Amino acid sequence: MTASAATAPVWHFPFDHSYARELQGLYVPWQPQPAPAPRWLRFNHELARDLGLDADRLAGDEGLAVFAGQVVPPGAQPIAQAYAGHQFGGFSTQLGDGRALLLGEVLDPQGRRHDIAFKGSGPTPFSRGGDGKAAVGPVLREFLISEAMHALGIPTTRTLAAVATGETVRRERPLPGAVLTRTAASHLRVGTFQFLAARGDVDGLRRLLRYVIARHDPALVDAREPALALLRAVMERQAALVARWMGVGFIHGVMNTDNMTLSGETIDYGPCAFMEAHDPDTVFSSIDHHGRYAYANQPGIAQWNLARLAETLLLVMDLPEEEAVERATALVNDYPAIYQAYWLAECRRKLGLLDTANALDDQSLANDYLELLHTWQVDHTLGFRLLSTALRTGSPGATPTLAEHFGAGTPALEAWLGRWKHRLAQQPGRADEAAERMDAANPLVIPRNHLVEAALEAASTDADLGPFEALLAAIRRPFDAAPAGTVWAQPAAPEQTRGYQTFCGT
Ligand code: AMP
Ligand code: MG
Repeated sequence: MTASAATAPVWHFPFDHSYARELQGLYVPWQPQPAPAPRWLRFNHELARDLGLDADRLAGDEGLAVFAGQVVPPGAQPIAQAYAGHQFGGFSTQLGDGRALLLGEVLDPQGRRHDIAFKGSGPTPFSRGGDGKAAVGPVLREFLISEAMHALGIPTTRTLAAVATGETVRRERPLPGAVLTRTAASHLRVGTFQFLAARGDVDGLRRLLRYVIARHDPALVDAREPALALLRAVMERQAALVARWMGVGFIHGVMNTDNMTLSGETIDYGPCAFMEAHDPDTVFSSIDHHGRYAYANQPGIAQWNLARLAETLLLVMDLPEEEAVERATALVNDYPAIYQAYWLAECRRKLGLLDTANALDDQSLANDYLELLHTWQVDHTLGFRLLSTALRTGSPGATPTLAEHFGAGTPALEAWLGRWKHRLAQQPGRADEAAERMDAANPLVIPRNHLVEAALEAASTDADLGPFEALLAAIRRPFDAAPAGTVWAQPAAPEQTRGYQTFCGT
């Protein structure tokens, strides 16, 4: 039987343009700059199929011309979106898509709406002196890390395609240029509200509020205080998201308000990286001199960003000013408790604990383990992944592999394992069942920095995509036991980690 014409995937994008239609003033129509000599880096077949697109056709020459900005696909209305934002605490009234363009939105077979956007497609009116371009390395980095996040079950924008442009972009050294095609639940961000609030555009804010609710929180359409209801919803999503980041040791690196989505997806894979040895103060970004966006600061920064969102929403609350401020403040002050609930759930998942014991006790058990990882400089990922082995051996203590990571800290580890096993014994279910759950919660494979760098280096300097492909395949199966003992699961050697820095993709 063949698929009927109505349900057959279509190669072009069945674009809609709700953002452009409803949010005049928040964008300028613009065109991508055609790449001179495009070449495929990678097409994401799996994502294309999920979106209901004709993956096989898009993966060919027609797709290459589209993703290189040479052919604007039928129905696309490219726009550069306007937004503002706090960058490292300082406010810019106008940022905007300086090297990105939204082509339009597609509805997937489940009726979910996705933005399709370019990054690196040339300068726009928001480029502020930048060249509007992106380089092969950062584009493939976003591909890898966003796919890893997706495979880990963490909400994220995704990469549909990466193409090399045949152009040289000038950074600290000349680099091959590239364009990334990103999909997102939307590109609406805290900075979108800030753009209108900075201009005192209350009508615009009301329109934006209605639009965001219709798109991301349709259940709130009839809320008595839509602005407060939306704030609460965004807070929940961000708390849930940051708790997941903290669980896997992900450091975003540039949590500016223009890089915080209202959808709750991770966006902007510039200087991000995964922590190896657990250390709350870890910072990778070369421009984060004061550690504003260090690992342990992320939950607090999320709250700070949400307070900035709350400030913009004050302008559209149908309440006396004093009451509006009071209620918004109370809500933002609730953030630590909201976050804590998600973080506890994440910790319990990682430790195989069911929600049957005292929350404070479980949180201290988890905190004590994190402190042990820190003290003994244990790899965050393996420190959690290998815990399940201690439930499988039948022997009372740590397995040799886990103890190896703790070295002289093994007696402290043994003491903690005793407490943990005692706690596990008080909940229903067998130990091997807890071990199964833990292996589905604690990845074995994350995109390790030294492997990511090696893959990007090979792709950028030798146009060799082999290491990228191999790493991509590995990070797409993060919970698989198969890569144990392979390079994909191993931490970097100390000399590879020391002084590791990441750079914004600019
Ligand atoms: P980001 O740090 O990637 O979130 O970018 C912050 C702002 O700088 C956004 O407005 C970007 O569009 C802009 N930007 C970053 N890189 C470039 C570039 N190469 N050319 C033009 N604008 C850029
Ligand atoms: Mg950004």
